[in-house]
Amino acid sequence: MASHSCMFTLCVLRITVFMAEHSDVLILGGGVIGLTTAWFLAEAGVRVTIVDKGDFGRGASWAGAGILSPASPEHAHTALDQLRARSWDLFPLLSRKLYERTGIDNGYLCCGGLELFTRADEEPSDEWHSEGIAFEELQSDELHHRYPELSPAVQRAYYLPEMAQVRNPRHLKALQAACTACGVSLRPGCAVHRLVGNGSRITSVDTDQGRFSAGCYLLAAGAWSESLLAPLGWQPGIRPVRGQIALLNTGIAAVRPMLLCGKRYVVPRNDGRVLVGSTEEDAGFDARTTAAAIAELLHFAVSLVPNLAEAAVERCWAGLRPGSPDGKPFLGAVPGIDNLFVAAGHFRAGIQLSPATALVMKQLLVGEKSAIPLEEFRLDRPLDLTVGEKKNARGAS
Ligand SMILES: Cc1cc2nc3c(=O)[nH]c(=O)nc-3n(C[C@H](O)[C@H](O)[C@H](O)COP(=O)(O)OP(=O)(O)OC[C@H]3O[C@@H](n4cnc5c(N)ncnc54)[C@H](O)[C@@H]3O)c2cc1C
Repeated sequence: MASHSCMFTLCVLRITVFMAEHSDVLILGGGVIGLTTAWFLAEAGVRVTIVDKGDFGRGASWAGAGILSPASPEHAHTALDQLRARSWDLFPLLSRKLYERTGIDNGYLCCGGLELFTRADEEPSDEWHSEGIAFEELQSDELHHRYPELSPAVQRAYYLPEMAQVRNPRHLKALQAACTACGVSLRPGCAVHRLVGNGSRITSVDTDQGRFSAGCYLLAAGAWSESLLAPLGWQPGIRPVRGQIALLNTGIAAVRPMLLCGKRYVVPRNDGRVLVGSTEEDAGFDARTTAAAIAELLHFAVSLVPNLAEAAVERCWAGLRPGSPDGKPFLGAVPGIDNLFVAAGHFRAGIQLSPATALVMKQLLVGEKSAIPLEEFRLDRPLDLTVGEKKNARGAS
């Protein structure tokens, strides 16, 4: 099935009937997934148009914390592990290349991280060990000696020297600049209302700015993807999961490790700012912040690092993660439609998984063999509701 659609894709790219935008590929949605894929495709010589209903990179991708968890290719047993490990390898290279192409520094920084345990009886899992990731276990005395800013309530921690972060808004700005430099046609304020099909092919999409046609279509509309898939008979369960963040400013510029505690975290930036996140809420498409959630996040941050009580609250925001029923993204061809592909549902790890996602989507769209097996990410896969969410959420948020 996959190889059949690859062959077909290749043919489509060769015999593209150019209309409106004269594009080989039309990408619907300009978050980190759509923009990175557009860039990779354009670098491979493919003519790409990308449309977004608003400004590019203002969806979940902008709102995220930019936590990048380490992953080891040797221990990557599942396809999701491989997607993480490949992305982990690619991120520093991609960051360097973005800087060379655009002059924009995306803030990629290997700052390390501390996985914190606040209860003495809390059993740290051995997952870092089994995943082949470097870590150091720090008992209370050593921990507080090294990190005196931590509250005595923190009992012990794993120090993860390889954990890294990226500044999402800068990364997205760099991606847009790289796309522009490669000749990608970017169309903001261009909401897609429906995909128009004829038999087993999409022939055009109707948008705010008229009708667009291309050889192939890639749906990368994050949490909004379901509404464009549903009229085609696909309802995989991609849904918005709200995450709120509070941004503090300590005024003290320094590189400090990120603090991870269950699903919440404190992410110090190297300019004195500190992100505190995040919630996981079922609030539909309501991306407002709420007093209760922000109060709870601030309390959490101060309970870990008491000095943060003095920090200025600079800003709060919320974003809508593209959740999926098993926490894994949907990547690949839409079954039954030869020239429609999907890359959506990255939930808590879309920034982290974006390089390898873009790589495999580029490969699919130009008819190359995918570097990672994509069966696990098919739109029509049987859903394993126990495994994926845990893995996807590993270290990211
Ligand atoms: C608070 C928070 C913290 C996070 N922290 C991390 C983290 O630390 N590490 C990590 O890896 N991930 C993190 N994530 C998750 C990550 O941000 C997402 O998985 C990722 O951004 C998804 O990217 P996307 O491109 O699929 O979606 P989006 O960034 O949401 O992009 C989708 C785009 O599609 C556009 N669109 C929607 N509908 C239409 C339409 N009809 N027509 C045209 N355009 C349309 C939207 O305007 C949007 O720009 C976090 C998310 C949140 C909310």
